[in-house]
Amino acid sequence: MVKIAVIGGGVAGISITRHLVSHPGAAGDPEIDIYDAAEQMGRGKPYIEDSGHLLLNIPSEEMTLTGSPDGFVDWLKTQSLPVCDYNPRKDFGAYSREVFQSLADSHGGIRAVHEQIVDIIYDAEEISYTVHTKTHDKKYDLVFLAMGQMNYRDPYGLKGTEKYVFNPYPVNARLDEAEGKIGIIGTGLSAIDCVRYLILERGMDQVHLFSRSGDMPSVRGETHHFEIRHFTEEAVESYIKDDLIPLDKIIALFKKEMDAQNIEESLFYRHPESTLEDLKHDIANSAEVGKLQYLIIALNPLFSRIFTYLSLTDKKIFMEEVHPYIDKNHSPMPIRVARQLVEWAESGRVAIVDGMKDVHHEGSFIVESDSGVYDMDWMINATGPEKDILKDESPLISNMVDRMLIGPGSLGGILVDRAHRVISPRYGTLRGMYAIGHLTFDSDYLSNSVNIIVENTKLMIDGALKQYS
Ligand SMILES: Cc1cc2nc3c(=O)[nH]c(=O)nc-3n(C[C@H](O)[C@H](O)[C@H](O)COP(=O)(O)OP(=O)(O)OC[C@H]3O[C@@H](n4cnc5c(N)ncnc54)[C@H](O)[C@@H]3O)c2cc1C
Repeated sequence: MVKIAVIGGGVAGISITRHLVSHPGAAGDPEIDIYDAAEQMGRGKPYIEDSGHLLLNIPSEEMTLTGSPDGFVDWLKTQSLPVCDYNPRKDFGAYSREVFQSLADSHGGIRAVHEQIVDIIYDAEEISYTVHTKTHDKKYDLVFLAMGQMNYRDPYGLKGTEKYVFNPYPVNARLDEAEGKIGIIGTGLSAIDCVRYLILERGMDQVHLFSRSGDMPSVRGETHHFEIRHFTEEAVESYIKDDLIPLDKIIALFKKEMDAQNIEESLFYRHPESTLEDLKHDIANSAEVGKLQYLIIALNPLFSRIFTYLSLTDKKIFMEEVHPYIDKNHSPMPIRVARQLVEWAESGRVAIVDGMKDVHHEGSFIVESDSGVYDMDWMINATGPEKDILKDESPLISNMVDRMLIGPGSLGGILVDRAHRVISPRYGTLRGMYAIGHLTFDSDYLSNSVNIIVENTKLMIDGALKQYS
């Protein structure tokens, strides 16, 4: 009997477990140990128990863990919970925990272990992996790394400073004492979570949002369904030569598709004067903006596959010149969240400060920006997770890096092949160790939404179980 360890009990870990037990290649009831801290088991980090003001950024009706449409919405109805356009993320966490629990209840081989893994030791002769927690160790034949995002970045070196919140989640525990002048570093979806909690739940009179670029996610426009005409699998495959696809061909194909769908190229590169103008533009142009966003979402799975065929030079050009625009349109915020932000910004409750240069601590937090110097009592870090495994300080990542079991990908995360097998700088492509999710950012371009993780996990498990069938 193959012994399997799944590290991480979030969407990816649950999905791996689900595919493993339902796969025809899995003999009997496989022995699967899934590791995570008790509060995150079956939920993952974004969907933990937290304030109800933290919303999904994908419509509830588009969220499912089981692949069947309306999986989450159907569950909400059975629980007599309100079905909103965007439900609180904790609702999705309750749903995913139940999916996981019923999976574990119906398969005796699944064991939830409420512990963090701190190290993994590979035996190259036996081809086995011994995983270590603080209290015990155990040997496995197959290991799946599904640990989600790495730790938070600390771009201004303020970690440990009093009244500096290094990681804001759960907001209802980490931000519940913040008082006085509160500044948030960042303008992404996490910063918006913090603003909503501080104003809607804590009733704060004013919150400052600081960022270097002032870029916020776009506002989700109207839903569109497309019949793709040019950006097809056949067209893309016809460009493969020597296992590479040239970026210029892909960009030309994307422009041709935008043209065929009557989407203005200038919309893709839109960059209004200020963050506030940006929000207002998207709210006022919901139909066109929605068309662009849903085209990007429709092409995402194919584009993610293409990404693994780009040369290193093309990947770098893409990340510098194209990615910021895709990223902006890829995870838009719900329109009602945007309307509320505009209202708060116009009434002065949210002060958005672009052109941030530095922040340091001198009794209070001094923020320097193009528009002046600001003095804050509390500073909340919402700059997002680390991407470079060499800078991550968690024991598991740093120990695996040190053993040269994992190596850095060119754009962040770790190196894996197209089948998601981990490529070790010391042992080469590992038989029996796989990774998926944020850790494989370098080869799974923008594949981190629930639906895509569920899809990609299935492909990974199909490949992984072939060697044991
Ligand atoms: C704030 C936020 C909001 C989001 N909202 C949406 C949304 O609305 N819709 C959507 O589709 N996507 C959303 N996403 C994207 C999100 O990344 C995916 O939906 C999904 O949660 C990723 O799942 P995962 O299992 O890869 O990672 P996670 O959900 O983070 O799960 C990884 C788990 O691994 C555990 N872990 C880490 N290290 C160890 C260790 N050493 N030992 C044991 N366990 C460990 C962690 O505790 C964690 O529970 C959001 C992301 C964020 C950050």
